[in-house]
Order: sequence, then C-alpha cells, then structure tokens
Amino acid sequence: MSEKRRIVVKVGSNVLTRDDGKPNVTNMSALVDQIAAIMMMGHEVILVSSGAVACGRGAVKPMRQLDSVEQRQLFSSVGQIKLINLYNELFGEYGYVVGQVLTQKENFSSRTSYLNQRACMQTMLENGVIPIVNENDTASLTELMFTDNDELSGLIAAMMDANTLVILSNVDGIYDGAPSDPASKLIRCVPTGKDLSEFVVAAKSGFGRGGMGTKCGIARKLSEEGVTVIIAKGDRPNVLVDLITKPDETPHTLFEPRPEPMSNIKRWIAHSDSFAKGIIRVDDNAAKALRSDKAVSLLPIGVTAIDGEWEEGDIVSILCGDGDSVGIGRVSVSSAELSEMMGKKGQKPVIHYDYLFID
Ligand code: GLU
Repeated sequence: MSEKRRIVVKVGSNVLTRDDGKPNVTNMSALVDQIAAIMMMGHEVILVSSGAVACGRGAVKPMRQLDSVEQRQLFSSVGQIKLINLYNELFGEYGYVVGQVLTQKENFSSRTSYLNQRACMQTMLENGVIPIVNENDTASLTELMFTDNDELSGLIAAMMDANTLVILSNVDGIYDGAPSDPASKLIRCVPTGKDLSEFVVAAKSGFGRGGMGTKCGIARKLSEEGVTVIIAKGDRPNVLVDLITKPDETPHTLFEPRPEPMSNIKRWIAHSDSFAKGIIRVDDNAAKALRSDKAVSLLPIGVTAIDGEWEEGDIVSILCGDGDSVGIGRVSVSSAELSEMMGKKGQKPVIHYDYLFID
C-alpha cells in the first residue's frame, strides 16, 4: 500500500465498549493512534464506528421497562455524543478535526440523496475532516435499518470509491474450520468471486455468534466492485498500521478486488436490492447472455414476465426461469411500456449494461 489510498475502517461495539457499557478508552485511543499514523502516511480514512447504543446503556437508567426500539433510540441518543466527544478529543490531540455523519438506509434509496451524501463526505475529506459514520439510530425505522454496521461500511466504501475496507472484528479473519480448532488455518487471500459459505458455516459454530456470514457477503460484493476488503482482529496491537507496513506478518483475511473498479453508478445499483420496485423475469438465453463476460444489456426479447409497477429510472430485480437472481438494474422503461414491448425483437434496451449489476 505505498500509493495514497482511501481506506474505510469499520469498528464494532465489542471493540469500543466495555462490558459495563462505558466506552473502552484504551481500545479507542489505540484505534485513533493507528488512524492518525495512517493519515500521516498520506492515506485518507473514513471511520464507521458502532458503539452508540452500547455506550448509552451504561449512562442512563430508564424509568420504566422500554421496548427494543425505545431502548435503541434512548441509548443511542446519549451514547453517540459520548462516542463522538471522545473521538473528537483523541483525534484533537493529533490536530485532526472529526465530523459526524449519521445516516440511514433511505439516504441510499434515490440517486439524488446518495449523491448528496457522497458530496458531503467528499467535501469533508477535501478539507481534512475525518468522517465518523454511524447509523442514525434515533430516527431509523426498525424495518428499514441496515443489517448491521458491516453493511453500512460496505455501502460507504462503495459510495466513496474507497480502495480498501478494513473490517475490525473479534477474530483474525476467516478460518477453513472452527477458529477454536487448532488444526484450522486462517484463509489469507480469497480470490474474487470465491464462495466461502462452507467455511463460514464452520466458523459460525466456532464463534457461537453470527456476523461472519454478513461480513463475507459484503466482502464478496465489494471485491467484485473493485474494493479490497480485509477482515482483521480489532484489538490486535497496531493491527491497522501493520496491515499497511508489514501485511505478510499480520494475520488477516484479504478479499482480492477485481482489477477494473466498477463505475460509481453500478456500485450504487449493486447495493440497492432493498429498494427494488419490481421484478423482471427473463428466459434462459437472456440469463446466459447477461451472466457472460460480455457487456450485454437486457433487451425486451428476453423478458418473459414482470411483477410490480415502476417508472423509468427505478431499480428493478432480474430473476431467471428457475427463480434464481440474475442481477439488478436501473430501468430505462416503465413497467407499463415494458408490458407492451416484452418478448418483441428490435426494441430499445430495458436495462442498459452501464446500469446493470449481475450477481
Ligand atoms: N448503530 C449501532 C450503534 O452504534 C450499532 C450497529 C452495529 O453494531 O452493527 O450502537
């Protein structure tokens, strides 16, 4: 990593908070020291930090039994301030200015709000401000939340055209068996597109907690988009700096990126499956052509059926005959127009290649 890189670092509540709900100042200052060191090497850093809810829990005693939404809203409102204040103080010692970015899933749903959010963080970076990102837990609707901050960090890395996403976890990376089994080996490098589900199942039973599945899914998607993803252990001393200066000696799992980075609009589309307005079903020939290495657009001749109603410019999912997902894209025709055109030859593309993401 000798050239200047844009690095997104994701750190979870377990690294940042103690069991009693207080911020883990030791771990936080170690993290800040390392980020400052990376920035002094000339790299840009965006920090995606959890820990708001966990930090708030230790700071306020509710007057009555709260449901899970009330708890999340109350604790995060209190804890987010604690977190950001501490970051502000710790980064301030190095002369760095931090800025808070609280976001929610809806901000990724339209291209306009996506670009607005992107422009904000771009301006922060241009002005040397370190964006510290978290979900807006006081405002997010439960049914419209990010799966977790791993998902959020993937969206941020894709949106900001980051070179690298480092997910700091409580293990060194992905093992080829249960991490507790001494015979298991750490997988150092995952080639683009490789399916790790057999290992992740083993790893899950080993940790006794979920999380690695989401991390792997995000890592795989981002590596397809041209972003390097690294999973490493968050409380390993100096891990972030060592990953840059002596990667061979530092335990981690690296997901190799596709050499050609994907365009920003395709990346946005790739992460927009939860905003799809409908489904386009295609025949086997169309599915085969779309999945090939060629730059192919989806044409009406390959469409067999449509579900849902949408306008030109909306996001729509593509399924093949057996119901498997083929991809997702931004349509150039409304559902009403497509119902007239489908199955016909010589029509304009339904989804142009530039606006198509194939799974
Ligand atoms: N946004 C949550 C918090 O800061 C954490 C979500 C997560 O850990 O994935 O407490």
